[in-house]
This record gives sequence, structure tokens and C-alpha cells, in this order.
Amino acid sequence: MTSLLLVEDEKKIADFVILGLQSEGYEVTHMSDGVSGLEAILNSTYDLVLLDIMLPGKPGTEVLQSMRDSSIKTPVIMLTAKSELTDKLLGFKLGADDYLAKPFFMEELTARCKALLNRNQNTNTEAITVGELTLDKITRRVNWRERSMILSQREFTLLEYLMRSPGNVFSRQQIMQFVWGIDFNTQTNIVDVCIQRIRRKLVNTEKDDLSDFPIESIRGIGYKIKKSD
Ligand code: CA
Repeated sequence: MTSLLLVEDEKKIADFVILGLQSEGYEVTHMSDGVSGLEAILNSTYDLVLLDIMLPGKPGTEVLQSMRDSSIKTPVIMLTAKSELTDKLLGFKLGADDYLAKPFFMEELTARCKALLNRNQNTNTEAITVGELTLDKITRRVNWRERSMILSQREFTLLEYLMRSPGNVFSRQQIMQFVWGIDFNTQTNIVDVCIQRIRRKLVNTEKDDLSDFPIESIRGIGYKIKKSD
């Protein structure tokens, strides 16, 4: 069973998160202060840690630093208030894997958890395949049908992010946060531009039907990789 640790002092948020994660089939351990949270991390094994920043005893950023100093590589999602942007950037440097600003929807949190858990399960394999699309993690080479291209770092990270969870729709905001590490500028079209670049590299407009291309744009929401049949 997938085991998650939640370190969160606000009871209302904790109850809501625990209920949501349990309904997804995860086993959830809850600690409500930084000291017991760190103790749990050092003494047990979890698949994923959800870590609040403002905590009694020890702030989330210190918990994260201590765990990384102890070479514990468990993925961490930081839960932050919108106003804690500097803490967030600090957390990024300390090695958090993802962030979620409060308030958030449970669907969003479970999607992030799934993406990180999948990513971690597959870190030892060198290639990811979805249908006719193959991504080589060592060479950053992507293959689709007869085309074979090298992706830039951003293009690669974006495509890998989508390919980790086929069928899952990711918002532009989520993609931006994961690939570029920013979530405060929603006006930019960098996500669309990056996806266009990937498409241009792979689609042979003389031969391929554009609608066959596995990255699907979901109007008004974002993008997904089509599940292979
Ligand atoms: Ca808090």
C-alpha cells in the first residue's frame, strides 16, 4: 500500500486532505507539528511527504532541509499559503519536488501526488513509452512514428511530465509550475509555445494527420497525453 505522510497543523485542512487521500486508497499518517513530522520521516519509510511550511515546533523548510541533509530522498510536496512566495523559493532550493498553494482542490492535490509517485516508480527505467511515443531519459531523444528528435531540457521535462500520467489532464498552471517553477504569471503562453515546438519536431505534415499526435489540447484547461489503446 502506498504510504503518505502529512505534516499539517491546521485541523480543517488536515481532515480534508486525509479523507481525500484515503478515498484514493492511500495510507495516510498525520503529524501536526514540525518536530514530530521530522521524527516520523527519520524513523519510518513513506512514498511521499506532504509538508506544510508554517508549522509549530519547526517550520516545514527546516524539516525539509534536515531530511535532505540525512539523505532521505522521499518526494516532498510543500503546501504553502499564496503569500509565502519567498519561503517557496527557499523550499525549492532545499529540494522540494512540487508545491501547492492553499487553498487547493483535492483533485489537484491527488493529481500531483500521482504524478510524483509515478515519477518515482519509474526513475530507474531509461525510457518511457505511451503508444507510439517513446522518450529516452538519457539522451532526451523522442521518437514518434518515423520521426526521431532531440528535445531541449524544457521540452523534455514537459513531455515527461505529461507522459508519466497518460489520460490525465494538466492545467497550463500546473505545467508551468512543474516545468518552469513559476505559478504567478498566468498571462504567458510559454506552455503553448513549448508544446507547439514539440509538435513541430515530431509531426510530418505531409504524412501525418495532426489529430493523431498524442498530445491533446483540452480547450480552456490544458493538455494531456492520449492514453494508448
Ligand atoms: Ca500551518
